[in-house]
Order: sequence, then C-alpha cells, then structure tokens
Amino acid sequence: MSCSRRTQSEREFARALKVIPGGVNSPARAFGAVGGHPLIIDRGEGQYLYDIDGNRYIDFVGSWGPHILGHRHPRVISRIEEALKKGTSFGAPTLLETELAELVAELVPCVEKVRMVNSGTEAAMSAIRLARGFTGRDKIIKFAGCYHGHVDSLLVQAGSGALTLGTPSSPGIPQGCTADTVVLEYNDLDQIRDTFAQQGDQIACLILEPVVGNMGVVLPEPGFLETIRELCSKNGTVFIMDEVMTGFRVGLGGAQQRFGITPDICMLGKVIGGGMPVGAYGGKSEIMDTISPVGTVYQAGTLSGNPIAMASGIATLECLKETNPYPQLEENTQRLTEGLRSAATKAGSPHTLAECGSMFTLFFNPDKVTNYTISARNDVELFARYFQGMLDRGIYLPCSQFEANFTSAMMTDDDINQTIQAAGEVLQEIA
Ligand SMILES: *Cc1c(COP(=O)(O)O)cnc(C)c1O
Repeated sequence: MSCSRRTQSEREFARALKVIPGGVNSPARAFGAVGGHPLIIDRGEGQYLYDIDGNRYIDFVGSWGPHILGHRHPRVISRIEEALKKGTSFGAPTLLETELAELVAELVPCVEKVRMVNSGTEAAMSAIRLARGFTGRDKIIKFAGCYHGHVDSLLVQAGSGALTLGTPSSPGIPQGCTADTVVLEYNDLDQIRDTFAQQGDQIACLILEPVVGNMGVVLPEPGFLETIRELCSKNGTVFIMDEVMTGFRVGLGGAQQRFGITPDICMLGKVIGGGMPVGAYGGKSEIMDTISPVGTVYQAGTLSGNPIAMASGIATLECLKETNPYPQLEENTQRLTEGLRSAATKAGSPHTLAECGSMFTLFFNPDKVTNYTISARNDVELFARYFQGMLDRGIYLPCSQFEANFTSAMMTDDDINQTIQAAGEVLQEIA
C-alpha cells in the first residue's frame, strides 16, 4: 500500500504555518529532522491513524506514549462520555480525583500520596520545587539526554568537562536558572560518586528517566539505579524518577517495579491520562505533605484534576489492571524487534536496537547506546530516509532518531508482519 499522496496535508500545513509558529503546537511534531511536512491527522482508531488525505498508517507514536490501549478504546471513550454529561470543570473536588489517586497509589510502588497536574513538564517543575523545599537545598543533578519537559532549570547542557555546572540549552533561560543544575553522563557511576563525594550535602534531588526514552531508548546498566538509590539515601537527597514515559508502559508499576528500585518521588504523565492532558507527581507522604495547603511549598492549578481527564485516566488504568496486556504486548514487541534487527542485518545497515517492554529504538549506530555521547553519533540522515520510506508504506514512526517507538495492545500479527516487511524493503532500498 502506498501512502505517497499527501497533498491535503501539505496544503493544510501551509495554512497552519501562517498562524502557528512552525505550524505546530509542540516542535517534536514538525518533521524537522526528517524533512517534508507533517501529516495532518483526521482520526485514530485502535492501532491506526488516518490522515486528512484518507491514508491509513500503523501508529508507532501513540500520541508520543499515552495510547498503550490504542486510539478510542471503548472503555475509555464511554467513561469520558459519562463524565461529559456532568460538566467539564468545577474547580472543586470530585470523586474522580480520589479514584484516580487511589489507583495510582495502589499500582505505583513509591506513591503514598499523589498530586495531579496538567502535563509532564508541570510535574517536573513541581517535583523539583518540592524536593528543594523539603530538603532546604538548591542543587539538582540531571543526566544528559534525559528530558523532563521544558522546565527552565532542566533545559541545560553539560558545561565543558565533567562535573561542571550546566549552561542553558535555550535562549530565554537566565544563567541563574541553571546555575544549580549539575549535568552528568547517564550510566557513569564514577561521575555520580565523585559528585556526591564533593557536594552530597548540597544536593536537593537527583532526577532521571529510569529507562531513557528521549535520546532513543537507553537502558540503565546493572547497578546504575541501585547505586543512585543508595547514594541518595546516604546523602539525604530526594531520588526522583521521571516515569512520565515509562509509567504504566514498561509494566503496570512502571520501571520502579520492573527494576525493583523505589524512588522517593516519581512523576507520571502520558498513559496516566489515556490521551487527555494529565501529569502527576507522587511519593512518600512525609515528602508530599510539604506541598500546600498542608505544607508551605506552593503548587496549584485551575484545571488540575479535571473530571474529563480523570475519567480518561481511570478507565485506562482500570483496563490495564484488569486485562494485564503487558506479557502479550512485550511478546509482540520482541517479535517485531527481532524482525527489524534481522532486516537491518540483511541490508547491511549499521545498527543497534534497544527495547524495554513496549518501547524500542532502532538506532542507526553500530555501537550499543548507553549515554548521550554515543547516541549523538547516530546516522540521522539514514534515519530520515528510513522514516520516509516507512511513511510511504503506511507505517507512522516517531519523526526523529532520538525518540522511542511505542507498540499498542491493539496491534495484531498482521500489523507486525507488515511493519517488518516494510522495514526490509526500505532498508534494502537505502543501504
Ligand atoms: C514527555 C515527557 C515529559 C514531558 O511531558 P509533557 O506532558 O510533554 O510536558 C517529561 N518527562 C519525560 C520522561 C517525557 O517523556
């Protein structure tokens, strides 16, 4: 099947460009790294996306993570419809907020109490303020290549040489905002030990993606999370796991359950809203009770805990809990990644593939990717050609080499076979 006729998308994108910067409301959608124009989406159904030209695509983006159950899952849609009949927002407590909080506390190991916000970015911003307020310290540690939303203090790149303080990675961020952010290399335990040895008593929190999705999928090496857990406990540093992508994705209890390492605080987003804008941060009561109105650390939100968004999240988590799609999802994903690996080997493309649960990245890089320095060497031009070839064959991949691909519980053997076959053709063509 060829999806090369995309003239309506092209025309409508040109129209959007006149009134929206770059034509998009989030830059990752703009096809900047692969060229051409984005598809304008008409609708989603299960594992498929349909663009306004009427082409159908197998969707490996899933709205960048939320749609583990596929688009328009009947249980999710009917819960949203039920909530809609009662009103869209009240700015006062509803039962739905308590229900979703109870589900999160039941399913996510570190969570005793949880606060809902509207995005992963907001969760990161709030969790960091909380950790600083709780510890009375200013410094934070983050890792190069981990993304935690567009928070000022976290949009930072490593300075020259290890153990230096970060510099802003975007104009518009005052130097002062990142002056207390230490940027380290993922999976480098020596750097972490040195940093804690030198300034452990000043570090409010360490924040990381327990499985990175935002430099492509990168797994924690054995001992990495364990050592961080130990160092944080010893130094009174709040260990924050950003599970915005991995939460309810690499398993029902997220990466913390999968790896058996419990952080002090975790952030959630994406799957927790089932496609509606929801973020959350939660953890030990002792720490969470530092937030107002119980404590003095201020954090608020007019539409936080919005009933439509809560209904969507509740239906999604309940469905995941009751149907446990994870073993099947993982088996399907492995079959797919094995197929992709052998297609790449057959075509002679330099590659490595990383996966965890239903997330994976086919890197055009001969080396195992364990950190940002290695990921930065990916062949992005080869990726761009791969992406376009797949798009022409009805396969919708994330439009950057530095992203995670997601499978959904709706994908069938046929979808997987079709994807493997397309990859085989494209990789031969571009080799
Ligand atoms: C997507 C993402 C965020 C940001 O969430 P938004 O809802 O886009 O603000 C933060 N952390 C991780 C790990 C993410 O994948």
